Amino acid sequence: MRIILFGPPGVGKGTQAAMLSEEYGIPHISTGDMLRSAVAGGSELGRKAKAIMDAGKLVPDDVMIGIVRDVLRSPRAAKGFILDGFPRTLAQAKALAGIFAEFSIRDFIIVNFEVDDDEIVRRLSNRLVCPKDGKIYSVETDGVAKGSPCPGCGTLLVQRDDDKEATVRQRLKVYHSTTEPVLHYYEQSASMVTVDGSGSVDMVNREIKTLLKEDEKQ
Ligand code: AMP
Repeated sequence: MRIILFGPPGVGKGTQAAMLSEEYGIPHISTGDMLRSAVAGGSELGRKAKAIMDAGKLVPDDVMIGIVRDVLRSPRAAKGFILDGFPRTLAQAKALAGIFAEFSIRDFIIVNFEVDDDEIVRRLSNRLVCPKDGKIYSVETDGVAKGSPCPGCGTLLVQRDDDKEATVRQRLKVYHSTTEPVLHYYEQSASMVTVDGSGSVDMVNREIKTLLKEDEKQ
């Protein structure tokens, strides 16, 4: 199965991708996670990406397209994947179509998440991450606080620099102006299902799996 998760930042793509990855046994490919590990590793790409990410802007298309092309070419993506955070521009979507053609990938589905902006700002200001295992927690629902230990591995939880309110608002602006138009491109050229991302994690997960099953039957 090949799935592209689409939607604004903070809509729950990362959480759902991790669950679906386990449930379907296919890798979760997150361009945001790849950039964050480049930042943590202190590479040239990481240094350049950090400033862009902290400003809530997009890393240049050619860099992102090169990264995704390399992952999709690797054996780990051979049996399917969940792409999270890419494409984010029309140029990336068109390049992805070229990569799919090159690797003879025909079947894929877009899962489009919808949640309104105020809910996203609220969610992201309550989001904490484990810097070691990347797991996401909510101050509201998981009983954790900034600086408390990760329930999984004990590393202290942190807020992402780009989850501060001003940056979130900027990321939403970029989403609406640059990423959302990509939906129109896919409406004409791909299978797509839309989920209401405002429910609980388990409700959204069940809805996605139901929609994917229904789509498979068609
Ligand atoms: P995410 O974790 O998907 O919200 O990504 C975090 C940040 O990484 C974004 O706000 C961008 O700065 C950058 N980023 C991730 N994926 C892309 C992409 N496909 N194109 C450009 N920038 C990206």
